Amino acid sequence: MARTLRFLAGQDVGALRGCGPKLRGQLGQMGLDTVLDLLEHYPRRYLDRRKRVEIADLAVGEEGTVYGEVVKVSGRRTRGGRALVEARVSDGGSYLEVAFFNQAWRERQLEPGTEAAFFGKLDLYRGKRRMTNPVVDVFGRGGEAKTGVIVPIYPQSGKADVSTWQIHALVAEALERAGEFADPLDAAVRTSHDLVDRTTAYSGIHRPEDDRDHEVARRRLVFDEFLRMQLGLVARKRALEDGRKGIEHDVDGGLVGAFHASLPFDLTGAQREAIALLLADMGSPAPMHRLLQGDVGSGKTVVALTALLTAVQGGHQGALMAPTAVLAEQHHVTIGALLDGLAVPNDATLMGDRPVRVELLTNRTTAATRRRVEADLTAGLVDLVVGTHALIYGELPFRSLGVVVIDEQHRFGVEQRALLRGRGDEPDVLVMTATPIPRTAAMLVYGDLDKVELREMPPGRIPIRTELVAPEAAALVAYERVRSEVAAGRQAYVVCPLVEGSDTLEAKAATEEYERLAGAELAGLRLGLLHGQMRGRDKEAVMGAFRAGDIDVLVATTVIEVGVDVPNATVIVVEDADRFGLSQLHQLRGRVGRGGGAAWCYLVAAPSTPDGEARMAAMVESGDGFLLAERDLEIRGAGEVFGERQSGFSDLKLGRLPRDEAVVFETRTAAEEVLDADPGLSASPQWAEEVEDLLGDAVEFLFKS
Ligand code: ADP
Ligand code: MG
Repeated sequence: MARTLRFLAGQDVGALRGCGPKLRGQLGQMGLDTVLDLLEHYPRRYLDRRKRVEIADLAVGEEGTVYGEVVKVSGRRTRGGRALVEARVSDGGSYLEVAFFNQAWRERQLEPGTEAAFFGKLDLYRGKRRMTNPVVDVFGRGGEAKTGVIVPIYPQSGKADVSTWQIHALVAEALERAGEFADPLDAAVRTSHDLVDRTTAYSGIHRPEDDRDHEVARRRLVFDEFLRMQLGLVARKRALEDGRKGIEHDVDGGLVGAFHASLPFDLTGAQREAIALLLADMGSPAPMHRLLQGDVGSGKTVVALTALLTAVQGGHQGALMAPTAVLAEQHHVTIGALLDGLAVPNDATLMGDRPVRVELLTNRTTAATRRRVEADLTAGLVDLVVGTHALIYGELPFRSLGVVVIDEQHRFGVEQRALLRGRGDEPDVLVMTATPIPRTAAMLVYGDLDKVELREMPPGRIPIRTELVAPEAAALVAYERVRSEVAAGRQAYVVCPLVEGSDTLEAKAATEEYERLAGAELAGLRLGLLHGQMRGRDKEAVMGAFRAGDIDVLVATTVIEVGVDVPNATVIVVEDADRFGLSQLHQLRGRVGRGGGAAWCYLVAAPSTPDGEARMAAMVESGDGFLLAERDLEIRGAGEVFGERQSGFSDLKLGRLPRDEAVVFETRTAAEEVLDADPGLSASPQWAEEVEDLLGDAVEFLFKS
């Protein structure tokens, strides 16, 4: 009987004969609970035994991979106090010495009898052939090779201590018991896409007989991964569009015209085009679901506000959701200023109109204010609400919600967008993001939305001068610029080093740097401190003072990354800049140069890795967010760039961007074809199951009509 993936996901790995209670526990630690988990625990790479180099054949000074068995291991401390582990490896013919500094755990890992591959440079040390700190892939202990000539190497978890041999043996048993895999792609479709069947794929990825076996296996498995995502996304897009009745907004009312006329500048061509698209969407009866992408400073706010006012001029209301309270407050201030002098009809007043009213709702809003705003929303006296995502998703009693703008900045809230769907009304939705996303990645993260880009910057913008500064030179170059700009009445940011994984430590580091700067490079200036551990009220007080010009220099963690907008700020100094990702640095740099004058970004760093160097060079060379985003994706990979859970990238086990870009496009088309022929996937129950298992509850409404 052919097995489906869902069936295999229902089988505990512990049921396999080779899996005793101890191993079951270790696998659990690695997140491998079901037989499907095990089968989707793919080899990290493959070693070809035929390409093995005999220890005796490797020349001194040359790099190579040597396979062998550990015959002796010992650990000690050097006179300098460093841990030193030395092992002797035999390939049956000759010996190799390997030495590891500061890796005391190697003594346990490389017990005698362990078979492993060692990759490194061969040196001569006291007359012996030796590798120092080689890369090690442990196969297992005792016993001859249990694989063919191609050895799959599995990702190892030091903590769980499960060897490649153990995984390999279990996988072999699982594959044998599973027998034939049910295949949702029939032979004709496989042929047209040049794909092998699933049975061949799962076997080829784990037990290849030659390199071609695992290559064609990978192609099939990656295809399936992307196809599942695309089926989910295309189905979601169609479900959102299908048979839904939205609001036909009044796109010719006077409010939008008055708003545009009131702006102190002309709209850019890109803004005009984007607005034309939005108005076409909003004027039609189908609900809008559109993504507005634009680099920092490209002028998205005016476009978003146009959408909001389009709803208002027809007698509806609008909501703007921001990812953080600081950002919501920022939007509230900006929008308040832009709306100054604009009015909507109101018979209850002598003049027959009243000012457009916008209210702010965050976790800092008092219960009393909130109640009043809610009452006025119900009465239709509030036109726009700005707030954090969480608050607006609560049940706000709009009289008639016409449009929702979601400002995601660089977060990717796929799940939140799905939630909108559950509400009774059907407002138009515009999602804004300030992080340019490479095309393929956008297709995965935002594949359910139509898109529009602001590629052109408002005129008169002077490129921000970006310089890489060595830490020793920071005082002289970067902080001197901060002082001279402050002397000229300008303001500056100092971004403190990123402390991975601990907000508390990061806050502490920022506090210390703030105190240090106050007594050294920036003595005599008015400094403010902003970090994520501060209470909301304190954060807002500091931001308010900075905006008002009462603080010269804001010393901050990356909390300022998200959309803080103070046009008078002209310098940003990023400390330990090589620890930040490219997109993040670009966002940080976008905090300055918003006032039209000259602006500077100093990256203080002494990059110690090729990656770090590449990122610094890219920042100095380019101000184009789209280009930097592509580079970021290349350097760091999609999972890192988009964050784990939210984006769906964590569901990719084999697929990688940009490497598998072509497959993204190929599966998009394939998904559309499948759903054209069979919208409910009733003829492809396996795909329906797999997409459901991938996306969980979010997918519920898709295939059950
Ligand atoms: P984004 O949100 O895309 O980062 P903003 O909407 O905050 O960018 O705009 C950045 C700055 O450019 C703001 O100060 C805004 O007033 C200004 N701006 C927007 N559109 C134009 C334009 N067409 N011409 C000149 N300045 C503009
Ligand atoms: Mg903005």
